[in-house]
Amino acid sequence: AIEATDLSHAFGDIHVLEGVSLSVEPGEIVALVGPNGSGKSTLLRFLARVRTPDEGTVSVGASGQGEDDRREGQGGHNRVGYLPQQPGFRDGFSAADTLRFYAQFADGDVDVSEILTHVGLVEASDRRVDALSGGMTRLLGLGRALIGDPAVLVLDEPASGLDPGMVERLFDIVSELADSGVAVVLSSHNLGPVERTADRVAVLDGGRFVADGPPGELVEAVSAADLQTAFGEFV
Ligand code: ATP
Ligand code: MG
Repeated sequence: AIEATDLSHAFGDIHVLEGVSLSVEPGEIVALVGPNGSGKSTLLRFLARVRTPDEGTVSVGASGQGEDDRREGQGGHNRVGYLPQQPGFRDGFSAADTLRFYAQFADGDVDVSEILTHVGLVEASDRRVDALSGGMTRLLGLGRALIGDPAVLVLDEPASGLDPGMVERLFDIVSELADSGVAVVLSSHNLGPVERTADRVAVLDGGRFVADGPPGELVEAVSAADLQTAFGEFV
């Protein structure tokens, strides 16, 4: 499980998050939606602990025992896998070698070919990362996030740049991971798959959650105009 409590953060004068709390249990998929610039990526960076908020805490572990300490992750139980909105890879290396590189830092053995199979990139294993399409780069980013069997997955726009078939496949993969007990928090502008897959949808706007509930209730809770803002062209 992952729990964020009372996160607040400002970039200069811009208050991006104001007292945001969120918890995701094992097996649960929570989707963050909201207009461009509403703070989704910022929140996800805090959850992935690649940045620290001005205020608030993030804890990962069994519910209720939260300890804000990366080193607790020894053994993989508290590991958080993170797919940034812009997964950057170093040019010149193959997809497989890139995953092998990151696998060095994981605890225990990592089966790189299994991960490539999981994300549908077997055919592209030997392709240079700079020769991958945008969508394939994102799938490789998902593969990188899966190294070390994370207990929590933080996925920033995992479906962006994927064709409709791949979007379905991506959300299928995410659902299977959740079924196996992974806690998933993702951001997405794709309403259809979010409605089908997420257990909860949280709408971020003006630095706060303006709605949080099952996808069905969300539609009732938030006005059509707000949904239009949150999902843009996808509604
Ligand atoms: P999108 O849907 O476009 O991905 P988002 O909801 O992920 O948007 P964020 O990327 O979290 O939004 O950005 C929230 C706000 O914080 C924006 O106003 C952005 O310009 C600002 N911001 C984000 N990162 C930084 C930074 N490192 N320095 C300054 N401002 C930042
Ligand atoms: Mg973003």
